[in-house]
Amino acid sequence: MNKRVPIVAGNWKMHKTPAESGALVKEIRTGLPAGDLGCEVIVAPPFTSIAAAVEAAAAGPVRVAGQNLFWEEKGAFTGEISGPMLKESGCSHVIVGHSERRQYFGESDETVNRRIAAALQYGLVPIFCLGETLEEREAGKTFEVVETQLKGGIGTIRPDDAAGLVVAYEPVWAIGTGRTATPDQAQEVHGFLREALAGIFGEDFAGGVRILYGGSMKPDNAGSLMGQSDIDGGLVGGASLKAADFLGIIREGTK
Ligand code: PEP
Repeated sequence: MNKRVPIVAGNWKMHKTPAESGALVKEIRTGLPAGDLGCEVIVAPPFTSIAAAVEAAAAGPVRVAGQNLFWEEKGAFTGEISGPMLKESGCSHVIVGHSERRQYFGESDETVNRRIAAALQYGLVPIFCLGETLEEREAGKTFEVVETQLKGGIGTIRPDDAAGLVVAYEPVWAIGTGRTATPDQAQEVHGFLREALAGIFGEDFAGGVRILYGGSMKPDNAGSLMGQSDIDGGLVGGASLKAADFLGIIREGTK
């Protein structure tokens, strides 16, 4: 049986003002069942909405993540946000290496590695995203691509320092497209990633690490995806913007 506590995390991308963010967190909190959820719930609002989300989340189980961070602590880096800034704002997690960052903002495995290392250094749990494009999948390169991203992102980070790391497999062709990986397709890659992590950090680490699936997850496909042995929850984009849909996915994660 899968003993890893699942995580359902919402990536709000560039959506929701502070007032809208506070209201959405409240709606999610109110809709959650009372008592031990058996599932971790995280939301990642835009930077400008973190304070409002943290305030609205204060009394409940919902935790707040940044969508990115820069690796330096402070300095002349206009437009960037550091780990200590996220931490002091009340974030517990931070998304790193999302495919939109890789595609539109020049993220590479090397910069992803520096961001993951900084997150760990400043006490934030990195949600480390990776995944192949459609072209790479059709060329039969999925495993090669995700292994390169995994190893590049981890770099020389040591297993003790990586405790808590969360990995999110997000096939680029499934993000925001409505085209979800089948449970078998996703499980195949998740199993591969867990084995690769065993090779890097050892069996104990690999047995405990949460590997989330992301890519058009919805309430009606979440159960079959999260029912796979190596899928430990979801990183949810579009469906996390409506409380009812997000709660529907969380319900599947708590079954
Ligand atoms: C994402 O952006 O991480 C994501 C999975 O988006 P969506 O659920 O909209 O495909």
